[in-house]
Amino acid sequence: MHPSDKFLLVRKHIFSSFRLHGLKSALNIVDNYRKNNDIDDKHYKGIRAELGFFSSYKKDFGLFESLDSGNHADFIGNIKGSTYGIDVTTNLDFKDLETYTENQKDGYKYLIALVNPETLKMEEIFNINFPFCADCGGRMIDILYLEPSGSDKDGLINYSYNQRVVTVCSFNVEHSMSKRESNFMTADFSSYINEYVYNLNFGESSTPLDIAKEIDRYAISNLKFFRKELNSNLMACGSPEYIVTNPRDGEGYNGTKIYFRRPFIKNDIGDLYDFDFRDLE
Ligand SMILES: [Zn+2]
Repeated sequence: MHPSDKFLLVRKHIFSSFRLHGLKSALNIVDNYRKNNDIDDKHYKGIRAELGFFSSYKKDFGLFESLDSGNHADFIGNIKGSTYGIDVTTNLDFKDLETYTENQKDGYKYLIALVNPETLKMEEIFNINFPFCADCGGRMIDILYLEPSGSDKDGLINYSYNQRVVTVCSFNVEHSMSKRESNFMTADFSSYINEYVYNLNFGESSTPLDIAKEIDRYAISNLKFFRKELNSNLMACGSPEYIVTNPRDGEGYNGTKIYFRRPFIKNDIGDLYDFDFRDLE
């Protein structure tokens, strides 16, 4: 028997025991399969996360198991009147928007549910049904763009920051659109990092790893806040970046740096754009 067919049978057994005897007993069966080497670590982690998700949201989302591996979903569910294929994962790094694109073109909708492998509770759920670009068929993905503060006429920073939602075309950045704006006291990335380093206690030094972690933390907390405030499906964060072309005289031009993005759009949203998002209409 093909290994993937074998796993489908194992999965069927595990879910039928869940229905008969509940979560705890199903998890015991998963442990036994692992002990006997009938499933590998990856499937072990995956099926436990699926069971945790299923037991929490079975009723709310009207879930049933998907039995066809070709549809890239573990469950089919219904949320607020729409039907979705739901892909459950413990690690977003293994997910890629590309996997779902063909089916999405046929009208299927997907969600990715991130489940904590220890607690088996859902941490976040992502709506990955980004519209297709009307010009080129790329994906139109909302990013949060944090602009630096302006300055007054003496050149002093006046702490007036601007944020906007830019919908970025994954194929051609020039098809991007500026959608909405706000003016919270939220610093752009480079000001924020400077402040963070400046505020470290005397004698403390920051490693690149600390700074990378702090950037992720800052980005995620802003994505959560502005997702509601600007009513957008935000998936990445960026700020202007001056790109130096001549190190001798500092000559260059304004581009855009993406400081953070959800892992499943790593092939759709770049690191650095030769394009100043402030030029968008
Ligand atoms: Zn496009």
